[in-house]
Amino acid sequence: MAEKGFNPYAMAQAQFDRVAELLALDEGARELLRQPLREYHFSIPVRMDDGTVRVFRGFRCQHNDARGPSKGGIRFHPQETVDTVRALSMWMTWKCACVDIPLGGGKGGVICDPHNLSMKEQEQICRGYVRQLWKNVGPVNDVPAPDVMTSAQHMLWMLDEFEALGGGHYPGFITGKPVGMGGSLGRTEATGFGVVFTLREALKDLDVRPEDTTASLQGFGNVAQYAMRLYTQLGGAVIAVSTWDNKAQAARTFRKRDGISLDELLAITDRFGEVNVDKAADQGYEILDGDDWLVQDVDILLPAALENQITAENVKSISKRVNIVAEGANGPTTPEADKVLHERGVFVIPDFLANAGGVTCSYFEQVQSNMNYFWTRDEVLGKLDLKMTDAFIAVSELARKRKLFMRDAAYVIAINRVAQACKDRGWC
Ligand code: GLU
Repeated sequence: MAEKGFNPYAMAQAQFDRVAELLALDEGARELLRQPLREYHFSIPVRMDDGTVRVFRGFRCQHNDARGPSKGGIRFHPQETVDTVRALSMWMTWKCACVDIPLGGGKGGVICDPHNLSMKEQEQICRGYVRQLWKNVGPVNDVPAPDVMTSAQHMLWMLDEFEALGGGHYPGFITGKPVGMGGSLGRTEATGFGVVFTLREALKDLDVRPEDTTASLQGFGNVAQYAMRLYTQLGGAVIAVSTWDNKAQAARTFRKRDGISLDELLAITDRFGEVNVDKAADQGYEILDGDDWLVQDVDILLPAALENQITAENVKSISKRVNIVAEGANGPTTPEADKVLHERGVFVIPDFLANAGGVTCSYFEQVQSNMNYFWTRDEVLGKLDLKMTDAFIAVSELARKRKLFMRDAAYVIAINRVAQACKDRGWC
């Protein structure tokens, strides 16, 4: 979803180059790790409901699989670009390494807008995607998952197609499946809860009680909704939520200064996380500009929508009160904005640590699918909390010891692990 002038792949490479320099990585390792190992670009022809054929473009990038099969979601978005998918596949490699799960990094995307597609058309896209790719993905090669605008239903269609082509049952091919069809309890909550597990630990580091904090959220999809659930359970108050309004083709911020009730807001939200503006106005929300989530006078900002949201242009408008940015989205902060946050002493919980709960739970799902033995929700979320907390502590201890920004500390840990795996295999 690259906007003019913003290239997420260039951003991911710039972040990598900075840390490669810090680690004095040798040339071969740098070249290997600053681009995907493999990528696939293909067309997906679909017979639409009106009888015409439309051709959708699809991508899958496998950035690195030295530590295990490539792992990462498949996004459906009208502005998807191959560079975005490349960047996201790279961030998946660092994400899996940062939480120390035995998986590599991959990402996929299809240029399409599910808002304007029937379920039958979406099913055809899912099946067509797998038909193009099935020989190059699978439980031991590359394991997809849900992402922006894809759900458990999409994953099940993809699994069904893969199993039909492969002639067997391969539940480990894909994660984020529906519970009862090989999915894991807790997977839906995992990314949002994981963000809050790391946020809780960051608050401990700063000696602040969650109940003394307020937050502003960008996005109200799966990640933001579950992050809000756990954060408010810990006692925090969300006072603003920004969501996309497809009808107006613009974002809006919904504010209640005394705190928003999650269930009340969910009752007026559709399956894409879009809040009904008229109903919100009736229920007493202040309706502000989409970008206004960023300028709220709160302690915590939680971007949980898309990349490239906190930029050189808008970072200066962030309130002085903000002392934590917890990145639920992938790549929400540009390097220029990051520098400003660093200088201001804002505690940033970087994306590939903060939002690693999703893929960590995907790993648990694979383990359960492969054993055909399923855990309780409490077991899953308990293991998730342990994994996320351990990863957070390792990053924050390194940041303190080496006086590094949190993002750099997380990168040092992740890149070291991946570079070591490549070296041990004799790749570089
Ligand atoms: N799409 C999620 C992410 O960006 C989850 C990926 C997965 O479960 O493989 O981390």
